[in-house]
Amino acid sequence: MIELDGSYKEGGGQILRTALALSTLMNEPFEISDIRKKRPNPGLKNQHLFCVRTLEKLCSAKIENAFLGSDNLRYFPGKIKGKRIDIDIQTAGSISLFLQAVLLPSMFADKAVRFNITGGTDVKWAAPINFLMEAFLPQIKKYVDIECRLVKRGYYPKGNGKVELKISPKFKIFSYDNFDEFCNDVKENTERIDLTGQGHLIQIKGISHASSSLQNAEVAERQAKAAEMALKEFNCPVNIQAEYNEALSTGSGITLWAIFSKNENEIDFNNPIRVTGDALGEKGKKAEDVGTEAAKNLVKEIESRAAVDKHLADQLIPFIGLFGGKIKVSEISNHTRTNIYATEKFLGNSFMIDEKRKVISKE
Ligand code: ATP
Repeated sequence: MIELDGSYKEGGGQILRTALALSTLMNEPFEISDIRKKRPNPGLKNQHLFCVRTLEKLCSAKIENAFLGSDNLRYFPGKIKGKRIDIDIQTAGSISLFLQAVLLPSMFADKAVRFNITGGTDVKWAAPINFLMEAFLPQIKKYVDIECRLVKRGYYPKGNGKVELKISPKFKIFSYDNFDEFCNDVKENTERIDLTGQGHLIQIKGISHASSSLQNAEVAERQAKAAEMALKEFNCPVNIQAEYNEALSTGSGITLWAIFSKNENEIDFNNPIRVTGDALGEKGKKAEDVGTEAAKNLVKEIESRAAVDKHLADQLIPFIGLFGGKIKVSEISNHTRTNIYATEKFLGNSFMIDEKRKVISKE
């Protein structure tokens, strides 16, 4: 049985989510100790239990020690079956983080998997929903057909945001004799992840959003305007939409993404180059400061000249582990190193890290 140390480096929930995803896909049981040991509230939280419960439904997994606060878990996956699953995370637990555990196995099920997920769409320390839709999903569309619809936003603490996903597999893992044959077929029939140089910056887009309770104060427009001001130095069109939502909890945020073309005006849709910057509003923080913060985060990523931002980097690791690829990242974060650790536990030690050039690759 594969053994993982949940306190490794970042020591957060991602080790568990990556392990759940790869274990289910590879049909390899695992056990993990010291779950989320480096977080202020260690052990399993509700949102992790929802990942586990969903996998029970998706692949009839057997699980030991899955209870609130548990610091260890044993997981025995079963066969992944396409179906419709409705999940209510009940709190503002992040929908994007939930997907880190269930998306990968769903991508290779025997038939389409549909998720109707209720939870947080724009919450602290997690990928905002527009990051998922605009930066992450475009990278993995080469492996699978995914439709993702944001129905409603959900902010901290009540959440209640809604996202619908339909995942239609192009490759079905159980139609192969063994795991290597599956990986080789995916590699032969898709382009590898190849994201190194940024190329030409052609456009900056963004969504600035807020709950309708903040509409009178024009929070979404002010966030957008401040971001636009801070991005003036770039000689390209900047288009940031402002929108309001009937959310249960008051909240706001802004996600920006810069779109690059490899050659002048020629976008590579198989390896789209997009880097992001985002920020969340909170009580006492001026809307202008939220917009400026997101823009500064984006500027830092653009100026790094890397094709992959620090958040996308860690989230692409399991895919590079499985199907190969090469990325130049703005920063080799602890999250990235931790996800390499979790991925190598299942796939063997095979990542190459060029610390100086910040290039991560795998054959
Ligand atoms: P939990 O306690 O809910 O498990 P955690 O904080 O322990 O969460 P981490 O292991 O820290 O979870 O993983 C957080 C994930 O969210 C990482 O993949 C990280 O890249 C991603 N993330 C965090 N902030 C952003 C952001 N602003 N944009 C995109 N992705 C983000």
